[in-house]
Amino acid sequence: NRVKTQLSMLQLHDLTFVPFITSAEIEERIAQLAQQISADYHEKTPVFLGVLNGAYQFTAALTQQFNGDCEVEFTKLKSYEGTTSTGTIQNLIGVNNLKGKHVIVVEDIVDTGNTISEIIKILETEEVASYRIATLCYKPEAYKKSHKIDYIGLEIPNKFIVGYGLDYDGLGRNLPEIYQLK
Ligand code: 5GP
Ligand code: MG
Ligand code: MG
Repeated sequence: NRVKTQLSMLQLHDLTFVPFITSAEIEERIAQLAQQISADYHEKTPVFLGVLNGAYQFTAALTQQFNGDCEVEFTKLKSYEGTTSTGTIQNLIGVNNLKGKHVIVVEDIVDTGNTISEIIKILETEEVASYRIATLCYKPEAYKKSHKIDYIGLEIPNKFIVGYGLDYDGLGRNLPEIYQLK
């Protein structure tokens, strides 16, 4: 068993990670975002659309702190990066019955922006009333798209992170804090 002391290093598979963002900082930032979103949607009933698996923790925390009526849905997408360099992403579950709804996509991290671009394409075919993007983490140096990210929890450097929903080869999602590759 891993002994849990304050801010210790973390070994997952073959990689070593160092503490990067504490759970208190994450929770504080999510509370601020929730307040902002509550104000922006005070006359609407938004649908929070969490993108599994990575956004499960962020979606839970954000919607708990949202002040007002809302719906919560999840979607899961699968990326196929076969022979071509541009991976296509296939919609797997959950994006239906969103017609006429005000959707807030909830992502764990926006890196290149490929995933979010595919989600936007899907939402546009679903004829939603409006959509915005919320992400816990954003890597501005890696972002290649032009679509605005409406709600950003934390802007981080272009280094691999785990924790608070984000995994390395299946491990680390359950951690309440975020670690960065050493
Ligand atoms: P995109 O490049 O399409 O914006 O990001 C695609 C996905 O890559 C994210 O949803 C996430 O699953 C994964 N990803 C990107 N950066 C990181 C990172 O630093 N850590 C982890 N664990 N996953 C990441
Ligand atoms: Mg994701
Ligand atoms: Mg992953």
